[in-house]
Order: sequence, then structure tokens, then C-alpha cells
Amino acid sequence: MRRPRRSEDFREFSRVKRFSESEVRFLETKGTDIALIFPNTYRVAASSLSFSLVRDIFWENGLGVERFFYEPSFKKFYSLENLRPLDEFRIWAFIVQFEPDVLNLLKILEIKSVPVKRDERGENHPKILIGGPITYFNPEIFKPIADYIYCGDLETHAKELVLFLKGLVPAEEIPSLMVPQLKENCKVAKFDINLRPPVGTILSPEGEFKEKLLIEIGRGCIRRCSFCMIGHLQKPARFLRIETLKRVLEKIPEDVPLGLISATVTDYPWLEDLLKLLEGRHFSVSSMRMDGLTLDLLKLLKKSGQKTFTVAPEAGSQKIRDILKKDISEEHVESSLKIGRKAGFDRIKMYFIYGVPGEDENDLRAIADLCEMAKKMGYKVKASLNPLIPKPGTAIKGKRMEDVKALREKEKFLKNLLKSIGVSFEFESIKNAYLQYKIANMTEKEITAYLEVAEKFSPSELLKSLAAY
Ligand code: SF4
Repeated sequence: MRRPRRSEDFREFSRVKRFSESEVRFLETKGTDIALIFPNTYRVAASSLSFSLVRDIFWENGLGVERFFYEPSFKKFYSLENLRPLDEFRIWAFIVQFEPDVLNLLKILEIKSVPVKRDERGENHPKILIGGPITYFNPEIFKPIADYIYCGDLETHAKELVLFLKGLVPAEEIPSLMVPQLKENCKVAKFDINLRPPVGTILSPEGEFKEKLLIEIGRGCIRRCSFCMIGHLQKPARFLRIETLKRVLEKIPEDVPLGLISATVTDYPWLEDLLKLLEGRHFSVSSMRMDGLTLDLLKLLKKSGQKTFTVAPEAGSQKIRDILKKDISEEHVESSLKIGRKAGFDRIKMYFIYGVPGEDENDLRAIADLCEMAKKMGYKVKASLNPLIPKPGTAIKGKRMEDVKALREKEKFLKNLLKSIGVSFEFESIKNAYLQYKIANMTEKEITAYLEVAEKFSPSELLKSLAAY
């Protein structure tokens, strides 16, 4: 590794080095076959198990892989593994997890002077491979950009994909691989996670699960909430069998804290056995449903150091919960709040959705009422409020998102209500939510038109282009 001479490159180099040195890695990968790029900040990338999982899967199948992330000030892009500049890599594989990351991907190509349109690139440019959650529902938007698009779970065809990248297997042999203009369709791959348990190999002090080893105990969801992509696109739900998990845990030292990832841990079929396995370990969970909470689970979470009880009632009123097909009753909400207190939690974070068709002032007031109820039970309450975003593949696909003006009024109304009862809150930016909606639903034609005219890959330019289209 050579230190850069120019001061701005050195600043960038030092920043990546700091993150690199903060990681504890149980597996080292070497080589410059493939750059794995998460087009978002290190903090967001470190919250995603796929950032290490995809690296490990490529490595197991014979590719030297190093990870990269994005910051707007970056020019060179250095790898986390060996601080190598991105230019040294001939294949750039992007994991696109969130819709706005599509813009970051374009910005990275622009910064590196790589034409964003595939047909403007030549032999000397890197090959662009795109995968990640967006390929489950809208791989079309990558068609003008990518050389290759992999749809769905990488584990399913990792071996064949690596052979394809080495020129040893034709694209036709990989049903989940799209090669624009040559092979235009792909079947979303779904993998039985018991065949290769998804366990992280990197501990990072950044990210949502600070310094926890991530284990995905369930992929997909058995429910079908109307707005949720996991519930609709990730069927059937696949759970890591308890005996498989037991074998996994036997290899992880007891003092390594765990982050268990699943759409809803409370739907894990062997929950009681899981709790026995976790006795004495530090762990946290990604998500729990209010109808499946048990005192044992919450007590164990509390004992293992979790400070905040986090749940998603989604709405204050039963009417809106029913519209969202959340399948949670008033009784579930009330009893889970009580169980949380019994388990010793005095802080709660609740997620809500607003901007739902059919919603009226009473439904918005019901959000504040629920927060107030939790407050009266002795909780310090934080409400997280997010506009409803209709996305492809869900039960509300094709529906229009509520317009920005109406959302802003509702946001203001809710803020005043929550302030008046002393509840702290965070609102997802309406602009960001609208951007997600637009990108999630974007067609190949629309993105092609956008790439034609775009001067800057900024959210406002993209929204302007879509409005004009
Ligand atoms: S919102 Fe949660 S419970 Fe509902 S389908 Fe999605 S992941 Fe499952």
C-alpha cells in the first residue's frame, strides 16, 4: 500500500484507513479481482450484513475481493481491506440496497470518469455488475447502466457467476443473471439459508449493530403487510433451523456479541429454543412484531444490554392498521407495551406510517394518543414517522404516493401534537421518501431519458427529469 502524495487524497486515504483499522475481521480476503462497492456511507454499509457476506461468498468461490464505500468528497476510493485504489480493479460489483443509492452509484462512476451508460464504455473501462435488494423488484432500472445484473440471493448461483466473470461459463447457464441486450430476463434467486448460514465475519464499531457479529436467522417474512416488500417478494420465508444455528453458535466465542437479523424475530419458529441458546450471551434483534412478544424474550434482551424497546405499531388507529394489513390488534399493542415495562424497559421507540389512503385527522391523533399511553405507562417515548411509499411488488403497487403538500401539512400537524405531549420524534424527510418512491417505480425508459439529460446526479435533478417525462 502506497500513501498518496496529494493532501486531499491523503485525507481520503486516512479516513478509509481509520474505518479499516476499526474493524475486527475473522476472515481476510486478498486480491484485486473484484471491487465490492456499497454506494453509501461506511456507517450504512456497516449496518448491512451483505457488505461482508457478499465479499465472503465471492472469496469462497475464488475471487480476490475488497470492499469500498462512498462519501461525496471521495475522489480515489480506497478499499477497506488493503487500501487499494478502485482503479486497480477490473470488475466493480455494486450492492444497491436503497433507492437513493442508485444516484450514489452514478456519482461514483462520474467521479471515476467511467461513462454511466453501458454502451458508451469501452474495453478499458471496468465491468459493472449490479446486485442487491433493488434487483428483487426493479432490475430494469439498471439496464442502461450495468454490464451484468444479478437478481436475488447471490448464494444460489455464486459459483456459476464467478465462472462467468472468469469467462468460463456462458450467461445462459445462470437463470438469475441479466446481460442487457444479450439476455434480457432474470429469475430472482432465492436461497435456502440453511445450506450456507449467513454469518458475518466483520465486527465494526459503526453501524446499527455496533461491534456485533451479524447472523441472519430468517430471510423473508411469513406476513403480508400491504406496504412491505419483504412480505411480498421474499416468499417463502426461510429460517435458519435451530440445529444449524446451534452449530453456528458453537463456533462463535461466547464473549462475541450477536446481532440477529430477521424480518421479525418473533416469527422465528423455534423462538423458545433460540432463547435457551442465547442465555448468557450479549445479543440484539433487528425487529419484533407486537403480536409475538414474550416476556422471556424481552427480559433476555434487557439483560443482554438492550436499552430501548423498539416496535412498529405502524398506526395509532385500528382502522389504519387494518388498511395496512398489519394484522395487529389494539390488545396486542397494549399488552406488548405492558410486557415491555414488566421486562424493565423504560425507553420505547415506535415506528409509524402516515399518508395512508383513507387516513383522517382522527387517525393522526391516534398516533399521539398511543404515544401518550406509552408515556403514562412510564416510558420515555420516541416516535419515528415515515410516509407511506407504494413500491412495486407489494399489495399497493401502482398506487400514488400522497402528494408532498398534503404530507407536509400532516407532518406539521403531527409535530405539533407530539410536541404538546412531550414526545420526541424523528420524521423521514418527505423529499427522500418521494425520491425512494420515484426510483423504486422508475422504468427503463425513464432512467434512460434521465441519463441522456442529467447534468448532475442529484435528487432534485432526477425528480425534475421524471416530472418532465
Ligand atoms: S412489515 Fe414486518 S411483519 Fe409485515 S410483512 Fe414486512 S417484515 Fe413482515
